[in-house]
Amino acid sequence: MKAREIHLASRPAGWPVPENFRLVEVPVPPLEPGQVLVRNQVLSVDPYMRGRMDDVKSYMPPFQIDAPLEGAAIGEVIASESPDRAVGDVVVHNLGWRDLTVLPAARTRVLDTTAVPATAYLGPLGGPGLTAYVGLVEIAPMKPGETVFVSGAAGAVGSLAGQIAKLRGAARVVGSAGSAAKVEYVRGLGFDAAFDYHDGPVRARLREAAPEGIDVYFDNVGGEHLEAAISALHVHGRVALCGAIAHYNATEPIPAPRNLSLAIGKQLTLRGFIVTSYGHLAPAFYAEMTRWLREGRIRYDETIVDGLENTPDAFLGLLRGTNLGKMLVRV
Ligand code: NDP
Repeated sequence: MKAREIHLASRPAGWPVPENFRLVEVPVPPLEPGQVLVRNQVLSVDPYMRGRMDDVKSYMPPFQIDAPLEGAAIGEVIASESPDRAVGDVVVHNLGWRDLTVLPAARTRVLDTTAVPATAYLGPLGGPGLTAYVGLVEIAPMKPGETVFVSGAAGAVGSLAGQIAKLRGAARVVGSAGSAAKVEYVRGLGFDAAFDYHDGPVRARLREAAPEGIDVYFDNVGGEHLEAAISALHVHGRVALCGAIAHYNATEPIPAPRNLSLAIGKQLTLRGFIVTSYGHLAPAFYAEMTRWLREGRIRYDETIVDGLENTPDAFLGLLRGTNLGKMLVRV
């Protein structure tokens, strides 16, 4: 039996290109005790993967050249040498970017798909949902009645962050996104205002959308967005530094925010975080998110690209913003 895997063929310099990836066929090894064979059904592509394509020290090790990429995936167990996993179990694990994979059963988690579709575990009940929750509840704790600004508002994390802010009592939630269609989508999610960050300076657009200023900024973008937020934040404002996608493919350092010294007089808190350090909040998050989903109070959308061979295209599209909600690949 052969597995198809996407390997990193070369490291991107700036924006990744299709030539950085290679589709490879490899034999599937026989199962050892404790292992399972999983046929992947859906793969997640995520912005953090761009960082792992560079050969730099970070919070996760770099991907290796001529080795398969990795990432969250959902699949079905099709053979098992573990008493803990049965053929037919639907599991989530971290060996995506391939169609078949052998791994220890302990590195898989069986999904309960009675109430939600399996892909919810790659979205609202997965990393994006927990990231949005941790950012608003723990990192830049939001109080009812406050004004919250979320960038990347039409994406997986941002769309959930804005909705969670409303559900937890924000008075006003403002979002930014990269097209008029996305702005419409964000408004439809219940954001009070939204703007396309291509329509002039972010600082001016944010001032129109939140004329009274903001209390919390959930930053998915960095750069000019962060600078605009620092200007708009009230005294004792808080920033959850979640991502900086405007920087990920830059070949030169991005100069913004040029107004960081405002953080002193305004007594701002800017705090970075990596969601995997906040597993202790997962039980509270699951309970709250499961209830919201059951009550129909959280909307989530997926952009689905078909075919394992198109995973690099899905990833490149994600970086360019072709996704609405969570970008996924159906193997
Ligand atoms: P998204 O679904 O938001 O997809 C990425 C989006 O980024 C694109 O759709 C695009 O939307 C937007 N984008 C791309 N380039 C720019 C730019 N120059 N300026 C503004 N927006 C841009 O991805 P995720 O929801 O998975 O991730 C969102 C952010 O959260 C990322 O920065 C990611 O790294 C971070 N993250 C951090 C985690 C943590 O633990 N700290 C965990 C998970 C994610 P548009 O069309 O609107 O430009």
